[in-house]
Amino acid sequence: MPATDIRKNDEVQVITGKDRGRRGRVVNVVPSRNRVMVEGVARAKKHTRTTGKRSKSGSALQQGGIIDTELFIDLSNVQLVCRACGKATRVGHRIQDGVKARVCMRCEAEI
Ligand SMILES: [Zn+2]
Repeated sequence: MPATDIRKNDEVQVITGKDRGRRGRVVNVVPSRNRVMVEGVARAKKHTRTTGKRSKSGSALQQGGIIDTELFIDLSNVQLVCRACGKATRVGHRIQDGVKARVCMRCEAEI
């Protein structure tokens, strides 16, 4: 199984789709499904139903409404933003002291 080079709290840039060029912080990654959730990207308004039994007074236990949420997008649609050069980049690897480090393919800085 391929390991993902993008981790939670990384800054990424969207490289395709309607949010192309947008940057955001990774809030969730599902490596097994190649999915990533990025703050402010692929936002969707979700309509929620009022659920739960009503109390005697008639007020709902949980209010329905519209909430803003992010959707999972494919990992291949984003690139990691390098902290050193500030550009979206592919990620290379370097073994350093026996530990695999991520490096920027543009400036070769460790990410
Ligand atoms: Zn760089």
